[in-house]
Amino acid sequence: MNAFHGIALHPDTAAFLARPQRMLIGGEWVEAVSGATLPVVDPASGEVFCRVPAGESADIDRAVAAARRAFESGDWPRARPVDRERLLLKLADLLEAHAQEFAELEAIDNGKPVTIARHVDVALAVDFVRYMAGWATKLDGSTMELSVPLVRDREFFGFTRREPVGVVGAIIPWNFPLLMAVWKVAPALAAGCTMILKPAEDTPLTALRLGELAQQAGYPAGVLNVVTGLGHTAGAALAGHPGIEKVAFTGSTEVGKLVGKAAMENMTRVSLELGGKSPVIVLDDVDPAVAAAGAAQAIFFNQGQVCTAGSRLYVHRSRFDAVVDHLAEIASGMKMGPGIDPATQIGPLVSKVQQTRVLDYVQSGFAEGARAAAGGAAGEGPGCFVRPTVLVDVHEDMRVVREEIFGPVVVAQAFDDLDDIARRANDTPYGLAASIWSNDLSRVHRLIPKIKAGTVWVNCHNIIENVMPFGGFKQSGIGREAGRAALELYTESKSVIMML
Ligand code: NAP
Ligand code: MG
Repeated sequence: MNAFHGIALHPDTAAFLARPQRMLIGGEWVEAVSGATLPVVDPASGEVFCRVPAGESADIDRAVAAARRAFESGDWPRARPVDRERLLLKLADLLEAHAQEFAELEAIDNGKPVTIARHVDVALAVDFVRYMAGWATKLDGSTMELSVPLVRDREFFGFTRREPVGVVGAIIPWNFPLLMAVWKVAPALAAGCTMILKPAEDTPLTALRLGELAQQAGYPAGVLNVVTGLGHTAGAALAGHPGIEKVAFTGSTEVGKLVGKAAMENMTRVSLELGGKSPVIVLDDVDPAVAAAGAAQAIFFNQGQVCTAGSRLYVHRSRFDAVVDHLAEIASGMKMGPGIDPATQIGPLVSKVQQTRVLDYVQSGFAEGARAAAGGAAGEGPGCFVRPTVLVDVHEDMRVVREEIFGPVVVAQAFDDLDDIARRANDTPYGLAASIWSNDLSRVHRLIPKIKAGTVWVNCHNIIENVMPFGGFKQSGIGREAGRAALELYTESKSVIMML
């Protein structure tokens, strides 16, 4: 396979697709125990273009055993922090050297525009691995002055150390396959853990390629295992496995709760990055064209399949019509096409299932009285396209306003009262992110503490930064990934008290 939709593939991408795909367990590339495979579909055409192993619980057992062996014995436990740093830096260099290949694999597997994949997904992934490499040598503890009663004639010395939590199970979604993989792999390996990575069934390819590069970088066998398979089989087996110490999950709130419950049975440490219904709040001092461009980026980036997507737009009534008109114009003008085409601005959604889900939401909005200022229908052809959609005439109890759609659909509402906007913004079970658009610093500052969300952006949206903790309030999750906070997810704190 040398071309997709008439666009030539990089020779490395073609070479990867020409190989039979296997899973990485204990340093070996293996088929599933059952021998079963899963189709990998190009969402721009709906056609199957390769297959991957359908791992199940027997495969998870093998991978957990391999990760356990690697954690307890061999070269990995003896690796010094500086060795773990060097390996991650090498992995980052390899990722960077293969940036175009990774971008193309994301584009044909997920559907996202290749230019975005290259300059957002892959670029962020490379930087993130480098950033986390630095933490390998900086996992420190504290020394404490103790005041032990009774034993007054002896001295005590206290200190804390950070130790790797152990074997980690990582379950990731399909919206940013490589980036979500490294968000878990890099801090876990920096901390000295070993792991099993279960990519989403819709987008398994870059996780497998990452496994190849990890081997090439020199990671000992079993440190990183990649098991492809379905969520309710492989994913569930991993989340509830008694042989792991930590499960890191990104995906829907619904599945996140199942994963959390399964983990808790074994007291497995768990972090959850879940859904969102993030508000974009435009105050009355903003140029409508600037606000509309920001709102478009907030919702249409990655076809709206972003946990932080700005899917609820609230504009001060004085600017509402102007912002909606500009936004509808931007939405209608976006060039739709296969992700692999560098001219594409809006690719297909990840799958038929997702396309149907999103279109059903739009229909439910229409049935409840909403109107489309732009979009509102599927794109042409057999691909999983949904036109960028702006819904108006909506009210707070419609499903399109309350539920996460996870597609290029924004609901726009006007507001009058700044005192009331925080309440409306917070009127959701989610609390992942929000953006405030205004140059009035004092009003912005007064609003920030009132917003119940893990990230608040001001005059921007969807800016993800390696150094900034990322995670949710409320039903959007538990724990913070990225930044220094991520290391806490992959380490245990040990308190040591010595009597001298
Ligand atoms: P999902 O079902 O939550 O899947 C996320 C990951 O969990 C995938 O690897 C999935 O495997 C796996 N999984 C599914 N069921 C599982 C189970 N019972 N036990 C353990 N793991 C399981 O999300 P999705 O199907 O990809 O998308 C559904 C909705 O989730 C979206 O429409 C959106 O609302 C939300 N979502 C949110 C984010 C986010 O970043 N917050 C990302 C993606 C999706 P399979 O791929 O085999 O299902
Ligand atoms: Mg799924």
